[in-house]
Amino acid sequence: MILPRDAQSIIDTLKKAGFEAYAVGGSVRDTIMGKPTKGWDYTTNATPEEILALFPDSFYDNQFGTVGVKIYESPSARPIPGIKKIDSGNLTVSDIYEITTYRSEKGYADRRHPDTVRWGVTIEEDLARRDFTINAIAWDGKRLIDPYGGQKDITATIIRAVGDPKERFAEDALRMMRAVRLAAELGFSIDESTLAGIQANAHLLVNISMERVRDELLRILAAQFASDAILVLKATGLLTIILPEFDEAFATPQKSPKRHHIYDVGTHSVMAMKYCPSADPVVKLATLLHDIGKPKTFHKDETGLITFYNHEVAGTRMVRKIVERLRLSKKQSDLVLTLVRWHQFSVDERQTDAAIRRFIRRVGKENLDAMLALRIGDRLGGGAQETSWRLELYKKRLVEVQKQPFTVHDLLVNGHDVMAELGVKPGPIIGTLLDQLFAEVEAGTLVNEREALLTRMRELKSTIN
Ligand code: ATP
Ligand code: MG
Repeated sequence: MILPRDAQSIIDTLKKAGFEAYAVGGSVRDTIMGKPTKGWDYTTNATPEEILALFPDSFYDNQFGTVGVKIYESPSARPIPGIKKIDSGNLTVSDIYEITTYRSEKGYADRRHPDTVRWGVTIEEDLARRDFTINAIAWDGKRLIDPYGGQKDITATIIRAVGDPKERFAEDALRMMRAVRLAAELGFSIDESTLAGIQANAHLLVNISMERVRDELLRILAAQFASDAILVLKATGLLTIILPEFDEAFATPQKSPKRHHIYDVGTHSVMAMKYCPSADPVVKLATLLHDIGKPKTFHKDETGLITFYNHEVAGTRMVRKIVERLRLSKKQSDLVLTLVRWHQFSVDERQTDAAIRRFIRRVGKENLDAMLALRIGDRLGGGAQETSWRLELYKKRLVEVQKQPFTVHDLLVNGHDVMAELGVKPGPIIGTLLDQLFAEVEAGTLVNEREALLTRMRELKSTIN
């Protein structure tokens, strides 16, 4: 194992000045695992002032004792794996490194922030305040300091709290989400007593801002092992805090005569999310939520047939509250709402082009791939094949009908053509003519080709005058 050049030089600079210094946290963990790193964090016994004095281009802008150090190199320098380059004039900042003074933390009355932070004296003290054993390994390029058996847990693929899990989660409830997120990203399992600690403290998650919970949730949904992680959120009680709507979904059956469903609504939703082929966590979220209206619209008739009429409408209403609660951006919210609202789209081959075009207008051209990804997840998560001849035909027709203009602006003639061709002045007649041409193209009685449009324009002029 070797540290990247810049990372090592930061440690060496601190050591030459007589301080202790180590890389610590996620990048040490990822390096041990042989994975690419995402920026380095350091810890040292130098105080912020002492760090600032050693690095000419460093800045100190928070109360947690973290100093940011910029390392410059010439723009032509060879890229360093795992190091992000930031352009800044003729010099390139290869990364901003965060250096934090050893610290120990005491008391977490609000379950989020320590009541007191004091500079620690030893590296062991600093590692003791870190969340999980795999994140509590320090490395100076030569020596690994691993008092909690982090390397052993990496080998065993286990997320284990440092110290007593119940205490650590009661100190900072966000750690429970971090545990599940790390498990989802790394494919690790959560140690039994750590899991019990989450179960005992899940209710404390209400103390954490929804923005931070949402960030972890989106990272979970983007992770390779997202579906297992959602089931862990459910089993520990965390899901009840974040998405209480799911409690009912897991209790809603949908297996009935003449229906293909094999799972309850909640399990089907998780399966659909798992198989949804999108890389976008927002599309994954929409897939997870697509059937959330089913519990409210559940109906079972005397033959035992279960139906959920208009569940997508009821679901959209519920999702409106959910995206607000999760503080999603306007763009993210719109996408989730659109996908849930129209997820029941029909792929019936007897549909007219006009019906397909209406669907595209509702969903938005830019969201069609996401809509299809949800449908594939929905199918696979319900025990069906990934696709069908009907769905394949429908996809072809989606492409075909988009070759036709969608609005008057897509016509191959415009207002200038109308004025030039017919010798008229700017006025309402131009819009009227273009609307009429568009209506005929949309109806399929006129083709969107320049010559045909101009000819038709001349014909129409006489009828309008
Ligand atoms: P990644 O950057 O891949 O998300 P990471 O482990 O580096 O993973 P960061 O959020 O960058 O995560 O935190 C850096 C380190 O700080 C962690 O590895 C851990 O040692 C410590 N840490 C972060 N958040 C907490 C917390 N809530 N409680 C205790 N220690 C924490
Ligand atoms: Mg990190």
